[in-house]
Amino acid sequence: MTIFTGDQYRESLKELSPEIYVRGERIDDVAAHPLLRQTVNHIASGYDLISEPEMRDRAIMRSPISGEEIPRLLMHIQQEKEDLIIKAELTREISAQRICTGCGSNMLSVTWSMIHDIDAAHGTDYLSRYRDFIVRLHTSGCPPFAWCMMDPKGDRMLPPSRQKEPSDLRIVERKPGGIVVSGAKLHTTLGPGAHYVVAVPCRALGREDANFAVSFAVPIDTKGIRMIARPSPGPSRDVFMESPLSSRFLGVEALTIFDNVFVPEENIFMCGEWEQAVNLSLYFASLHRQSKCACSAGHCDLFAGAAALAAEVNGLGMKTGHIRDKITEMIMNGETGYGCALGAAVSARRHPGGVWLPDPLIVNSGLNTIRSNIGKHLEYLHDIAGGLITTMPTEADWNNPVLRPFIDKALRGNARYTTEERLRALNLVQDLAASRTTGTILGFTINAAGSPATNQVVVRRLYDLQKQIDRARQIASIGIPIRKE
Ligand SMILES: Cc1cc2nc3c(=O)[nH]c(=O)nc-3n(C[C@H](O)[C@H](O)[C@H](O)COP(=O)(O)OP(=O)(O)OC[C@H]3O[C@@H](n4cnc5c(N)ncnc54)[C@H](O)[C@@H]3O)c2cc1C
Repeated sequence: MTIFTGDQYRESLKELSPEIYVRGERIDDVAAHPLLRQTVNHIASGYDLISEPEMRDRAIMRSPISGEEIPRLLMHIQQEKEDLIIKAELTREISAQRICTGCGSNMLSVTWSMIHDIDAAHGTDYLSRYRDFIVRLHTSGCPPFAWCMMDPKGDRMLPPSRQKEPSDLRIVERKPGGIVVSGAKLHTTLGPGAHYVVAVPCRALGREDANFAVSFAVPIDTKGIRMIARPSPGPSRDVFMESPLSSRFLGVEALTIFDNVFVPEENIFMCGEWEQAVNLSLYFASLHRQSKCACSAGHCDLFAGAAALAAEVNGLGMKTGHIRDKITEMIMNGETGYGCALGAAVSARRHPGGVWLPDPLIVNSGLNTIRSNIGKHLEYLHDIAGGLITTMPTEADWNNPVLRPFIDKALRGNARYTTEERLRALNLVQDLAASRTTGTILGFTINAAGSPATNQVVVRRLYDLQKQIDRARQIASIGIPIRKE
């Protein structure tokens, strides 16, 4: 089957019967539910976007694993250095249009690498099962999958086996033909719109944590899987003028419960091999954070464009000194992040399983930098666009024929634009910087792909500071005689 179109994806949801709750109630039709509207639209429009002429050549490719045409960012195992560069380019472009690109290819690739390590260390044959799963995805329209990595973790200072009441996902029974798992995973982005759930461990584990070292893929409507979804940040009504981005894009996040779920043997990719759990986090910290650098660069592009447009409709623009400086800062932050995504690709290393892993020092430094500026950019958006982004009348007020003439007169700005155009521009900034979506963008930037402290941990671990100390000692003639050259 060829890659889904948006409509085929919508139709495909009718064949599934997952157990999903929204606002405390079980829902029976994911595609039709008003609070899942943006989620379904986000995924469906993503399938349509990659078929557009300017995207198609880069965004759709033939998989060396299955021989099928696949969406690069969703399904590809990144086995060429060039993949990292094309991925960064597309990620920046798409996230500037719709905030979240969808980066399943990273998840499939890091899991591929961890499974390769398990097989190499234990003589198992999980990779051929995993390959079969990927081929199944590629030959069935490339349906989306939910990435279940993050465990609840409980008390952060204790490993899962020492929690008073562990809630992390774990093996509770080994049976002929499969295993039974229980526990939870958090933060399942777009989860209710998925066809499959892919579970992997989220941290380093010890021998006593072996039952928490588990990875598998199962259909989302497997008995015992329950998703408790938090509605999308955008409005549930069609208010495109008021919320131009969030009424169409972004989606639900979910708490995914596994209540004695049976996983058949052919879908298990890790089963107790605790030694390799840490590898997944390491690979994730390289490959996925490279995408995050490019993704955040796309957000800087979007911020810069929206800020410049707001300044323009207000009658100002890049000629106004403080506005020009602030927008330039946004641009420079984006270029820094993107430069790190590309630089890390250039100095990537090939994992023995074939996946190219970007330079972790560069991506973690880049991501930490770009993240730490996001708050300032939001401040700049408020500053440049002005107070109206928090106080202006709503779209419904504008659509009321009695109120419109008054609003039209009161909210005029640059005479080259109509009041409606000005409101549209300011509403985009409102959507980005003064709405519930703002919180989601912040969450995506600060926490998704691991907290900022984890960037610093990677850099401290890998950077050869001793070499620099020795050099400094040498230059300062401390202990070591200076070379006379
Ligand atoms: C919008 C969004 C989308 C996401 N999508 C997904 C997804 O699709 N799938 C998925 O699996 N995950 C997803 N995540 C999860 C994301 O990876 C985590 O939020 C992130 O790793 C932080 O983990 P946490 O939320 O448990 O916070 P915590 O780990 O509790 O972190 C809170 C603070 O405590 C610190 N901390 C925690 N433990 C320690 C320790 N032992 N020692 C010192 N400091 C510590 C952290 O550094 C941080 O400062 C998403 C998150 C967000 C916000």
